[in-house]
Amino acid sequence: MGQNNSPSLDTLRAFETAPAMFMILSPNLYILTASDLFLEATGTRRDTIAGSYIFDAFPGNPDLEGADGVKNILSSLRKVIATGKQHAMPVQRYDVPDRSIPGTFIVRYWEPLHVPVFDDTGSLSYIIQSVKNVTGEIMSRAEAKQSRADREESLRELDLVNRRLSAAHDTLQVMNLSLESEVAKRTLELEQSERKYRNLIEHSPVAMQVFRGEDMTFEIVNDSMLRFLGKDRDIIGKTLFQGVPEIIGQPVVDVLYGVYRTGKPLELHGEKVILERNGISETGYYDVIYRALYDDGEVTGVLGIAIDVTPQILAQQAILESEERFRNMAEGSDIFISLTDEHGALEYLNASWADMTGWARDNLKQLSWDEFVHPDDRKAVTAKFLHGLENKQEFTNEFRLQNKENEYRWLRIKGIPRFDSTQSFNGFIFSGIDVTEEKQRLLEIEYINKALIFSNEQLSDANLKLLESEENLKTAFDAGGLGSCSLDLKTGRAEMSPTYRHLYGLPQQGDISWGMLLDSVEPEFLNEVNLVLENAINHGAPVDSTYAIRNLSTGERRWMRVVGKVYQGADGVNERIYAVVMDVTSQKEDEIRKNDFIAMVSHELKTPLTSISGYVQLLDLKTRQGSSYDGKPVLDKIQTQLKKMTTMINGFLSISRLESGKIQLARKKFDIADITSRLVEEYHTLVSTHSFVFNHCTATLVHADEDKIEHVINNLLSNAVKYSPSGTSIEINCTLKGDLVVLSVKDNGMGIHAHDVPRLFERYYRVQSLQTSTIAGFGIGLYLCAEIIHRHSGKIWVESELDQGSTFYFSLPIANGE
Ligand code: ADP
Repeated sequence: MGQNNSPSLDTLRAFETAPAMFMILSPNLYILTASDLFLEATGTRRDTIAGSYIFDAFPGNPDLEGADGVKNILSSLRKVIATGKQHAMPVQRYDVPDRSIPGTFIVRYWEPLHVPVFDDTGSLSYIIQSVKNVTGEIMSRAEAKQSRADREESLRELDLVNRRLSAAHDTLQVMNLSLESEVAKRTLELEQSERKYRNLIEHSPVAMQVFRGEDMTFEIVNDSMLRFLGKDRDIIGKTLFQGVPEIIGQPVVDVLYGVYRTGKPLELHGEKVILERNGISETGYYDVIYRALYDDGEVTGVLGIAIDVTPQILAQQAILESEERFRNMAEGSDIFISLTDEHGALEYLNASWADMTGWARDNLKQLSWDEFVHPDDRKAVTAKFLHGLENKQEFTNEFRLQNKENEYRWLRIKGIPRFDSTQSFNGFIFSGIDVTEEKQRLLEIEYINKALIFSNEQLSDANLKLLESEENLKTAFDAGGLGSCSLDLKTGRAEMSPTYRHLYGLPQQGDISWGMLLDSVEPEFLNEVNLVLENAINHGAPVDSTYAIRNLSTGERRWMRVVGKVYQGADGVNERIYAVVMDVTSQKEDEIRKNDFIAMVSHELKTPLTSISGYVQLLDLKTRQGSSYDGKPVLDKIQTQLKKMTTMINGFLSISRLESGKIQLARKKFDIADITSRLVEEYHTLVSTHSFVFNHCTATLVHADEDKIEHVINNLLSNAVKYSPSGTSIEINCTLKGDLVVLSVKDNGMGIHAHDVPRLFERYYRVQSLQTSTIAGFGIGLYLCAEIIHRHSGKIWVESELDQGSTFYFSLPIANGE
């Protein structure tokens, strides 16, 4: 390789400054130049290496075992020279000499790339060895590996050390413990021997003190005692009298000195001691214990212990006081007060008890008080007492107890259980009063109550009866068609029953005034009605007035009878008239008819009497004339008149008999057809003005009073003749209807108006008309017929048409076969 192959100097200069690491080698491996960065990395200077054989400038590290860098580089270079192709080498360790310390090397790892550069002729001009310093990466990778291995190793070691340490620690601890117990034991012994006593006192929660010497110098005073004395720690070293001057003269001091002198321990209970605490003198009560302290068999001091029992003592005192107060109160009280213990035995009775019972108050526990309880109450009283005691429960007993005069008194005793501050049961406290009077009053009230209840019952019974009787009265009033009225004389207002209103045709609702009532009164009676009212109002005269009214709603004329009584108020003034009204129309009419009847009877009797008197005078005259005179016709006439009168009088007698109930039926069986036939025959003979037709029927037996039935038939026949004109015929029928026989008398006369028909059979009733006015009669014939037929359980009726004629019927039961 000749010099002519060498790159130009300019080329080399350009290479040198290039930003890469490389060396330029001649084909015979001499260093031509190197880049600045290569020089820096290898720690060389250009002038020291330029012109040197590569391996002279960078020899192998002789200390590195197995170093193959030189061999590998050379082999790569040779390959490049031989092949003319670049060759990239794997990472190589190739240490570089440390120029600062000759003979030493710096570790370096490289990634070399050998690139051949040819000249124009194709012959090798130079080789560029470009390198990449990977020392850092390789080293850190190696270091990491190493440090991991190191760490593991050190952990193993640490673990080992730890285990050893732990073992050592255990050993140490064992040693330590034994050491500590040794030390504690020693300390305890020390304390026991030296401070045991003092400590005990100092830390005791109980107030304690140690006096030394005859002057009672405070040697030890614990905190509790200081608090209790109300002093500071500076009393230690002072004498009792210096430290607690207020104690001088108090009994407890003598006791303390006594213990010191005698060496005998002493205990005081509830000892009163006055101490000054914070400048205030306070009285307290204490349990105090003094014990002598010995030194070599001699008393050298006193140990004092104090326990504050002030609250207990005060409480005890309070109890005593309250007990005292209670006793005082109980003794002065009128109430019965007593106490028992928890077993029920009497502990105390107050003066009231003793006064009442006369019981001695000593030895109360032995008193059998229950023997004084009334035998009837004893069982209940003791049962309640025991129950209360057992359950510690409040209870009340009411019972009779014998007093010192051997009388029983009613007592009401209440027992209340007693409990102390710890809630334990102490027995009962009883308080009671004498309720004898109250009981008596209660009994009286009870009696009165019973009486009241009884009279109430009676009252309600009476009320009920009153209601009933009112109801009855009302019913009776209604049934009797009686109206009731109460007229207020001050207001003129009248309260009227519905019947009253109905009778007068007044409105059924609303107020009725006197004026309204007067409107109904027929004018001819107004004066009388007003007079009656005036007399009642002014003189309290009883009301009894019968007058005619015109019913305000029907206009019908009716007769009213008002009977009333005047009631006076408390002031004696006539206040009210209570009146009862009844419709007396029928009675009134009856009366009128009766009067008419009497007038007529008088007239009717007078007529035959007049003619008899005439005939008698005639006979008298004829007899005095002495001439023979046939008196027969005159006497016959007299006879006829007398007969007429007798018949008339018999009729009247029949009525009066009938009405007084004296009429007796003389019943027997007879054939009614037979007697009818006979009667019709008689009429046929006697009466020439009318013709008689009798339609015979079969023989029909009835069980009746023959005379009376004959009278009825006779009456019907005579009426038919009387009330029908001459020349007409009268038809008599006799028929059988079931078990009845019906007899009828039919005429062709004046007939009867329908409105007269229902009243035809009433006593004295006569049809008032022009036609009948000329016909004599008393209106008793049909009345008698009806009475007779009714008494035979038969019926009588009429069918009639005005101006056409009438048919009168009656029916009678047929007699049975016997
Ligand atoms: P007296 O005939 O005496 O008046 P009665 O009691 O027999 O009394 O009859 C009562 C009334 O009945 C008579 O006044 C008459 O007006 C009426 N009367 C009775 N019978 C008949 C008759 N057949 N036809 C019409 N009126 C009669």
